[in-house]
Amino acid sequence: MRVVIAMMKHETNTFSPVPTPLSRFGNGGPEWDGQALAAYSGTATPMGAFIDLAKAEGAEIVTPVAAEAWPSGPVQDSAYARLCDAIAEEVDKGCDLILLDLHGAMVTESLEDGEGELVARLRDLAPETPIAVALDLHGNLSDKIIDNADVVTGFKTYPHTDMYETGALAGEIAFRALKGGCRPTMAWGNRPMLPHIMRQGSADSPMRELIAAARQAEADGALAVSVFGGFPHADIHDAGIGVVAVTDGDADGARAICDAILDRAWEHRQGFVFRSEPAEDAIARAAKLADGPVLLLDHCDNCGSGGTQDVMAVLGEILRQGLEDVAAFAIHDPQAVDAMMEAGIGAEVTLDLGGKLDMPAIGRVGEPLSVTGRVKLLSSGEYTIRGPMYTGVTVGMGRTAVLDTGKAEIVVIERHHEPWDVGCLQSLGIEPAAKRFIMLKSRVHWRAGFWPVVRHVVECAGVGVTTSDYDKLKFRRVRRPIFPLDPDAG
Ligand SMILES: [Zn+2]
Repeated sequence: MRVVIAMMKHETNTFSPVPTPLSRFGNGGPEWDGQALAAYSGTATPMGAFIDLAKAEGAEIVTPVAAEAWPSGPVQDSAYARLCDAIAEEVDKGCDLILLDLHGAMVTESLEDGEGELVARLRDLAPETPIAVALDLHGNLSDKIIDNADVVTGFKTYPHTDMYETGALAGEIAFRALKGGCRPTMAWGNRPMLPHIMRQGSADSPMRELIAAARQAEADGALAVSVFGGFPHADIHDAGIGVVAVTDGDADGARAICDAILDRAWEHRQGFVFRSEPAEDAIARAAKLADGPVLLLDHCDNCGSGGTQDVMAVLGEILRQGLEDVAAFAIHDPQAVDAMMEAGIGAEVTLDLGGKLDMPAIGRVGEPLSVTGRVKLLSSGEYTIRGPMYTGVTVGMGRTAVLDTGKAEIVVIERHHEPWDVGCLQSLGIEPAAKRFIMLKSRVHWRAGFWPVVRHVVECAGVGVTTSDYDKLKFRRVRRPIFPLDPDAG
């Protein structure tokens, strides 16, 4: 048995000015062939689960590529073609099963639905071969993905701590189908809703109840039921909430499960609207909290959703208000890293920190902030995840420096990295539990590692292309009317 296993993941923020060439995938480029197999064997990812299942079946495993990039602007056409060609080439040689670890919100320079096009191409090459796909909870579903795949599953957690289980579920169904043990039948649907990312946490209502309904449907006999919050910053026709149900040969049953969950989502649509507090007020409120650590969440500039990670609005306000004992993760600024590397540990430097990229989609130019401090630490920026999300994966922040102003330890990095694991600070000698304030550029994934550490959470609405203020984003492609852009949609 020959099984093709591949990963191609990108959450595209069409408002982001950060470019997405091939080199943005992986740590300086995708992992190809044997390296892809080695890099993801034993990891808590869908690809890791696919590899385990195929090994257990004694299959010949072919891994043309494993490619994941930090969210950013549309993927360059040449990069997309290279990734898809590598997968298609192996499928074209003939295989018994295709297992794909995709995101579900990939937009390229020319295509709105990168994953849909890939799956359709593979279906053309291998009309009879089962295709199973594991997607991110922030996937935007389309007819093309569902019509051309046999099984689609999505994460049931946000932060995404069930990546392995999601891959295992898709893979197990596919292997069973291959042996004639079941006949996966899918239905999908959506409603005209663009839930705010800040309201999609799986511990929060109404997402919690929708996911509980999906689990209940599985307990009642459905093969797999997945709720997708969708990714609103990918301004494409199909963006928004969706549900996929997979049953064993029961098309009506699958449809009924989808509709019931979607009706419930629609009924609770107001619960998916995030209302933010200006950073200045939020930080002043945080300063009065007696016990720490207090998390100051800079959620409008999250590189895990396509933010430039160099907007200084929130950190600038923290410094201006004079908060003490702060750790800040992180400012993306390769030039500042260069300057600190050159100055060396212990040197006092004054940097024009951050603000390197303009954000034309939201009408802002980059605004660096002059910051003076001591170079406290220099690092290669590599660490291995020990927490519950991406466990076992070694990540690279690029060359990394810590700038200590006396009141704040500011981590400055060369490659984008969202703080979801405490290792991002601990690997630099900063113990988050011991700090009074922790500033993180994240939205919900910080909870994976930092939830047990922080005492208070203060959401600070700064500036950036991951803003939850939809009025700041000019939507052009998404279908209208859609809630809450059109409050009377439906
Ligand atoms: Zn996601």
